[in-house]
Parts: sequence; structure tokens; C-alpha cells
Amino acid sequence: MEFRDLKKQYEVLKPRMDAAIGQVLEDSNYISGRQVAELEQELADYVDVRHCIACANGTDALTLALMAWGIQKGDAVFVPDFTFFSSAETVAYEGATPVFTDILEDTFNMDPDSLERAIHAVLAEGKLTPKAIVTVDLFGLPADYNRIRQIADKYDLYILEDAAQGFGGVYHGKRAGSFGDLAITSFFPAKPLGCYGDGGAIFTDQKEWADLLRSLRVHGKGSDKYDNVCIGMNSRLDTLQAAILQVKFRAFKEQELAETDRIAKIYAKELKDCVKVPQIPEGLGSGWAQYSILLKDSQERNQVEAHLKEHGVPCMIYYRKGMHQQTAFKDLSCYGETFEVTTSVCSRVLSLPLSPYLTEEDQQKVIRLIREKTM
Ligand SMILES: *Cc1c(COP(=O)(O)O)cnc(C)c1O
Repeated sequence: MEFRDLKKQYEVLKPRMDAAIGQVLEDSNYISGRQVAELEQELADYVDVRHCIACANGTDALTLALMAWGIQKGDAVFVPDFTFFSSAETVAYEGATPVFTDILEDTFNMDPDSLERAIHAVLAEGKLTPKAIVTVDLFGLPADYNRIRQIADKYDLYILEDAAQGFGGVYHGKRAGSFGDLAITSFFPAKPLGCYGDGGAIFTDQKEWADLLRSLRVHGKGSDKYDNVCIGMNSRLDTLQAAILQVKFRAFKEQELAETDRIAKIYAKELKDCVKVPQIPEGLGSGWAQYSILLKDSQERNQVEAHLKEHGVPCMIYYRKGMHQQTAFKDLSCYGETFEVTTSVCSRVLSLPLSPYLTEEDQQKVIRLIREKTM
């Protein structure tokens, strides 16, 4: 059994995929081939934003977004404590200070009350200037954008939506990637829409930012290719990955997302009496980057994890500790936040095998093994 079955996916997509890859090899247009611009348009249409800027990976996408806003030393950027390292790493990389917020147990996403407390604490201290909020659509579920947008407006902060895991997620009729002033996603192979290597993209409705991002991703180029107008980076999505993504994106839209959702609903139905299954609030939909359950306590989590592994079922712990517990961030202030929810979730969370290609037999095995240890 695979945690996320990329081999089976390739088998299913093989004829189209091999043709798409072969075309790039024949054209030999490896950088900035037509597939990159086509993909950007397809992604922008799906997310329903004006501009999509493809780049080398999701981490670069976050960095480019922060660069476009001129986020720097002395700025505070609010980040949920429970996320992948990149969400906060990129803030620190720009010289700014990540300030962590706790999360909500039901959704695993940023707690708007904790966010507002953190903003107040930073303002009261008077050392840093609050500039932006990185909202993470964790495990595929969009954050609470109604409330977070209100808070962003109240304190005049940008929202940078980290939809690295959120692609395909829905919030009251709108798609993930459309909620931030800038939003990013990742095409790392295991993400909801993945390529065969690294890739990422940035979404925005603002033309000025889109133009600046297109410049920043290619060494700060000006309108003349050989005149560099600012300091940027080399962060393009290559043509091969774009061609691969075009094939995968079609499958994602045509059947994969719906199929993953169907499989997730089976987990919910058959596990909800013995573990806490993902809660999808009314009007929301998940892109299902992960199917993460919560066990009673760390002991039960570790027993279930061991039981699954003993029987050949791959499962993962996303994440074992909060950002405030990362060694690299040990010197950062917590501004009085105790991160009770994150800490509890880290000791109880377990992510199960999930992909549109998970067979009924394999899923039933996972369900049976979990029930054996939790009833
Ligand atoms: C994967 C991930 C990233 C980084 O994406 P890469 O393409 O691996 O650089 C950023 N944020 C979150 C929440 C992620 O899960």
C-alpha cells in the first residue's frame, strides 16, 4: 500500500503523460516553453484570479511574495504554529520576524482569536511593525477567511495565503488560491496537484504585483531581458514540469479531486465513532492533501501508528511539533501564547493513506486496523 499512490496515477495517465513529455523533448524548449504560459492561464482560470505566476517550488513562491511586498527586518508576520516549516522559514529568511498563533482543533487552521491576541501583543510591545498574515490551508482545508479578512482589514495587514496543501479546497463558492492578497501553492509530488519534481505558483488579482513577481522570478529582469531592474532570484517552473502538470491538472479536475473526496467520506463514515475525523465546516471543501485523524492521547496515537506500520500500512505524523518548538526559532518571543491546541494536536494527530487511487480493499484494511486499536 502507498501513502499517496503516485505509481498507480502514472499507470493511469501514462499514454497522455508520455506524449506530453515527449513533446517537450522534441521541442527541446526546456525553459519558458509554451506549456508554462498555458498552464498559468489554466490555473488562473480554475482559481478564478487574474494572474498566476509559476515558479520553482512553493517555498520560493512564499519568498517571492514576501519580496514583492518588501517584507524585511523589523516587520512582524503572523503564522500558524501548526504548519510545514516553509510557512515561517521564508519570513525569517527575509529578515522579518514570524509571530506564531495557535490553531483550532476542529480545522487544524489558524485561530482568529489567537491571531488578534498576537497582533495586540506585538503592537503593545512596540518593537515590530505588523505587516502580513500567512494563512495556511492545512491538509487541504481553507482557513477561516471571513474572520481573518476582517482582522487583516482592521489592522491593515496583507494576507499571504499558503495554499501549498490547499489547492482544490473551497470556501463558500471560492477556490483556494483566491483568498490571499497574494496566494501560493506547491506542486511537490505529494501535494494535491503535484508534478514530477519541484514546482510552485503564485496567484493574485493585482497586476502591479504580478508584473513585479514575473521580474523577481527571473533575476529582477526589466522589460529588456539584459537590463536587471531589481535583485531577484532564479525561480522558474521548467517546461517539462509544466507539461506534466497540464496532464495531471486535467485528471485532477475531471476525476481525481472528486474521487479523493468520495474516499475521504468513507473514512469519515466508518471511523467517526472511534476517532476524531476531519471536520469540514458548512460551505467548505477540502483539497485533501492529507486525511488526518485525532486520537484520544499520545499513547493511543502511538499504538495505532505502530499497529498500522506492523501490518504494512504507511501512515505519517504531520506534525510532531509546533513552529515555536523548532530549534531554529528557539530565540523568538511567543508573546504570551501557550499553543495549547497545537501542542495537544501534535501528540494526537495521524495522517492516513489517501489518494484517488486508494483501493477499497486497502482502505477497508486501514479502517479495520484503526478500529481494532480504538474500540
Ligand atoms: C509543501 C509546503 C510548502 C513548501 O512547498 P515546496 O514546494 O515543498 O517548497 C509550504 N507550505 C506548506 C504548508 C507546505 O505544505
